[in-house]
Amino acid sequence: MEYFLTEEQKMIKETARKIAEEKIKPKRAEYDENETFPWDIVEELAKADLFGVFVPSEYGGLGYGVFELCLVIEELSRVCGGIALSYAGTALGAFPIILFGNEEQKKKYLSPIARGEKLAAFAVTEPEAGSDITNLNTTAKKEGDWYILNGTKQWITNGGEAEIYVVIASTDKTKGPRGATAFILEKGMDGFNFGKKEKKLGIRASATRELIFENCKVPKENVLGREGMGFLITIKNFDTSRPGVAAQALGIAQGAFEEALKYAHTRKQFGQTIISFQAVSHILADMATQIEAARSLIYQTAKMIDSGIKEFSKESAMCKLFASDVAMKVTTDAIQIFGGYGYMKDYPVEKMFRDAKITQIYEGTNQIQRNIIALELIKELTKK
Ligand SMILES: Cc1cc2nc3c(=O)[nH]c(=O)nc-3n(C[C@H](O)[C@H](O)[C@H](O)COP(=O)(O)OP(=O)(O)OC[C@H]3O[C@@H](n4cnc5c(N)ncnc54)[C@H](O)[C@@H]3O)c2cc1C
Repeated sequence: MEYFLTEEQKMIKETARKIAEEKIKPKRAEYDENETFPWDIVEELAKADLFGVFVPSEYGGLGYGVFELCLVIEELSRVCGGIALSYAGTALGAFPIILFGNEEQKKKYLSPIARGEKLAAFAVTEPEAGSDITNLNTTAKKEGDWYILNGTKQWITNGGEAEIYVVIASTDKTKGPRGATAFILEKGMDGFNFGKKEKKLGIRASATRELIFENCKVPKENVLGREGMGFLITIKNFDTSRPGVAAQALGIAQGAFEEALKYAHTRKQFGQTIISFQAVSHILADMATQIEAARSLIYQTAKMIDSGIKEFSKESAMCKLFASDVAMKVTTDAIQIFGGYGYMKDYPVEKMFRDAKITQIYEGTNQIQRNIIALELIKELTKK
């Protein structure tokens, strides 16, 4: 499909592809096996200015939008969905500051992110607050010019590796959805520590850690937006970043499809290549069609968001839902085409299958995406 990318978009895409092919591909299996955080790749992405893609130019970025971010995530994920997450997770941590930060916060925090000197993270999930993000137990109590944070965040992407954290904590449980506040925290603040690093099924080169707050003193200047805006910030952040998760899913699916296509074209059984069996070629035809449908939905949604349109929760949820289901289906089918070889670690489709699964879970499970879409449909109906 021709998407009529501009020369600049083509350049961004090609830059990401070159890093993925030349720097990530030779290391992806080793980093996955050893759960190595890809600092050397982060450096390459920084050198190529790719962390600047999603940061406004006033704060040292290149001033592109969600569309270009998706191009980068797709290309990196085509080779390794886990390594790509160090980059995508930083966008998730940066968007709340881009969308809700004041001038001072933007200047202080976005420039080092744009240069790739500091990674970012976003922390809302807790042991008792997964899909139900209103059930927070992390508290932030105001004392003079400070807020005192206590509690634990779990499964935070880039946890321990990032320097900048946007953390959602409860400032007043009695206020329900208006009772949470977003704070910018820095690694090294007193009372801010890291707990266990998770061992995972997939995306193993990505760090997933607990954040522990024990009387952590955060200056009131580090409140994002205003007190009580924590849930709104979370929702807007996820709406903006979900096409990025969808792009991760798309890249993983694309990578698995390319491997399966090549393999089907060379593997011979019964004296002929397996692609000459219609049963196999039809699987490939379905994979290609589903991938292109996902890509179209993601690109169009990203363009909608970048246009400055106000409402995009539905489309953003659709992207993540559709692309992640495609990724799971395509990677499963890729293993089928490889037969027994696909089940072995000698071929990359085994890893792609493991990496794909998370895209159906994080930034809201696909059940939650369906809830969001259905809610928006009802809203549209009652507006008429
Ligand atoms: C590797 C990894 C990285 C992550 N990174 C981050 C991060 O950087 N920052 C962060 O804040 N969080 C992060 N998360 C957390 C992630 O967003 C949550 O795991 C996810 O939102 C689901 O919450 P849960 O796991 O507690 O599942 P639960 O909410 O307990 O859900 C369990 C099951 O019940 C279903 N369910 C729950 N409620 C409903 C409902 N209302 N309707 C229908 N079905 C429902 C779910 O779909 C799911 O199938 C990460 C998680 C993982 C595994």
